[in-house]
Amino acid sequence: MDMQNIYDIVIIGGGPAGLAAALYAGRARMKTLLIEKAKYGGQIAITNEIENYPGAVEEESGPSLMKKFEEQVIKFGADRVFDTIVDVELEGKIKHLKGNNGDYYSKTVIIAAGASPRPIGCPGEKEFTGKGVSYCATCDANFFEDFEVYVVGGGDSAVEEAMYLTKFARKVTLIHRRDTLRAAQSIQEKAFKNPKMSFMWNSAVEEIKGEGVVSSMVIRNTVTGELTTVEADEDDGLFGIFVFIGFDPKSELFEGKVAMENRYILADADMKTNVPGVFAAGDIIKKSLRQVVTAAADGAVAATSAQKYIEEHFED
Ligand code: NAP
Repeated sequence: MDMQNIYDIVIIGGGPAGLAAALYAGRARMKTLLIEKAKYGGQIAITNEIENYPGAVEEESGPSLMKKFEEQVIKFGADRVFDTIVDVELEGKIKHLKGNNGDYYSKTVIIAAGASPRPIGCPGEKEFTGKGVSYCATCDANFFEDFEVYVVGGGDSAVEEAMYLTKFARKVTLIHRRDTLRAAQSIQEKAFKNPKMSFMWNSAVEEIKGEGVVSSMVIRNTVTGELTTVEADEDDGLFGIFVFIGFDPKSELFEGKVAMENRYILADADMKTNVPGVFAAGDIIKKSLRQVVTAAADGAVAATSAQKYIEEHFED
């Protein structure tokens, strides 16, 4: 193997964790490659408003913050490719990543593949995704200007995105499986005061129906089991369903190769996994707070740990 083509650090995933890792690795003059499958920024790139990233004050959006992360990565010189990794060999001293567009070799790997929105899992959901069912308010809110929309979930994301949707939709109804919200108190208070918001408690979406676009859904009362059908307003002929019920880690590729718990990768305080030379960062790891600030911190730690590992295990 030609050592010239071996990277010091290959990072899988270009969200906040991966971008922060690439910035730190590039700045440390490591031969670094950032592999992203589609678009930088990860999940936060579909969030409209960021209030709690330190230093990101008024007018900061997910995309604007991620653009700054990306520019900083470019400044410090990490190589970047767009590719989807389909297989990994992590055991050896040199790690091998197989992508759709090529093979990559590296002394260390940082897994920062993130998480993806959790689906409801009911009939009709897949069929109507993009035809009334959405997982991104910033992307799709404008399609529902003056229509009715329903938001599924009771956490911070559901309530915040529901309020964002009130700027477009005529009416926003939050469907939650219990009768109290999980969202932070301050967020709840704003939602309860919003005249365009209403709440459907103890309710779960059982089935989504329509012809071409969503026009009805079956709701189950989670206490009584009773089923009711919600129909689109006759003049509208359709409504939107936005789903925000949490996230699943994108860890399938690493199953059986890196230690996990409930599909989240286990990493220690130095972001080391159980496999030497393999680190993990961001939403894909088991942790208690999944935010941009914690993802970025993980990425910084992972890159620094990878650098130390290389110094200890490889001679120049
Ligand atoms: P979350 O906090 O895990 O909330 C998920 C919500 O969806 C819960 O209300 C849950 O109901 C519900 N749910 C889960 N599975 C469901 C299913 N199969 N069917 C119906 N409902 C289901 O997720 P999140 O709101 O996406 O937030 C993720 C993390 O990001 C959290 O740590 C959150 O604090 C953070 N976040 C923070 C902010 C902010 O600080 N501004 C904004 C967005 C997200 P139960 O309540 O009954 O479990």
